[in-house]
Amino acid sequence: MAKIRDMIPAFELFQPTTVGDALELLDEHRGQAWVLAGGLDSFDWFKDRVKRPSAVVDLGGISELTGIRDVEDGIEIGAMTSLTEIERDERVRSGFSVLADAARHVATPQIRNQGTLGGNVSQDTRCWYYRSGWPCYRAGGNTCYAAAPQAMNREHCIMGRSRCVAVNPSDTAPALIAVDAKMVVESNGGSTVHDAEDFFIGPAIDITRMTVMKS
Ligand SMILES: Cc1cc2nc3c(=O)[nH]c(=O)nc-3n(C[C@H](O)[C@H](O)[C@H](O)COP(=O)(O)OP(=O)(O)OC[C@H]3O[C@@H](n4cnc5c(N)ncnc54)[C@H](O)[C@@H]3O)c2cc1C
Ligand code: SF4
Repeated sequence: MAKIRDMIPAFELFQPTTVGDALELLDEHRGQAWVLAGGLDSFDWFKDRVKRPSAVVDLGGISELTGIRDVEDGIEIGAMTSLTEIERDERVRSGFSVLADAARHVATPQIRNQGTLGGNVSQDTRCWYYRSGWPCYRAGGNTCYAAAPQAMNREHCIMGRSRCVAVNPSDTAPALIAVDAKMVVESNGGSTVHDAEDFFIGPAIDITRMTVMKS
């Protein structure tokens, strides 16, 4: 069960300046490492002590991950680009207005200033039971606390359930699917490109993940 305390458990903080260095650090600390972007989702997990990584790799100093660039067949948005930048960018507003609208609808200005696109599409589900550390299917247990009619499940799914009934909370995810975005995933094995529609996965594919990315 989650216990809210005033201090986050200690971890070693790494602040690489290139994607290559970040990938090496993640490999070196495989199984114990956590990728940090704007921290809005990450710090919730740490403060509640449900996730306790020993190594945190902060992507904030990697300039190649920030900003919106023109490319031959459209635009490329770096994972560390803030939701505010996406919401305000003229190229996004004119060519991909559904994405600008989606970014604009995320929470509050403060959260959009701090939150990144990479973090928004990689955030974990907001199921209250799971976020509080209950040992449900998604957490490796053998039941779903949200599936009972009287449970707290108003925001959960009506389609696509498979043991888990939680949904992906990202507002930008459906917009990226609608504009046929390509998602670039970097790993030490090289980079892979996924259609946004295939990047986000449901519990029938893997109940412990919300995207194709593996830690
Ligand atoms: C009060 C509140 C209200 C919110 N309301 C909304 C809402 O209305 N709509 C909505 O869509 N979201 C909402 N959110 C969620 C918020 O938008 C996300 O938490 C935020 O976008 C996460 O981005 P971040 O940059 O802070 O990422 P972080 O919190 O640092 O990271 C989030 C997750 O993504 C992983 N990650 C981050 N970047 C990468 C990367 N480049 N590659 C691989 N993994 C990565 C991290 O390891 C972590 O698991 C809300 C959050 C809060 C706190
Ligand atoms: S809906 Fe999913 S995340 Fe929530 S309690 Fe059930 S299995 Fe866990």
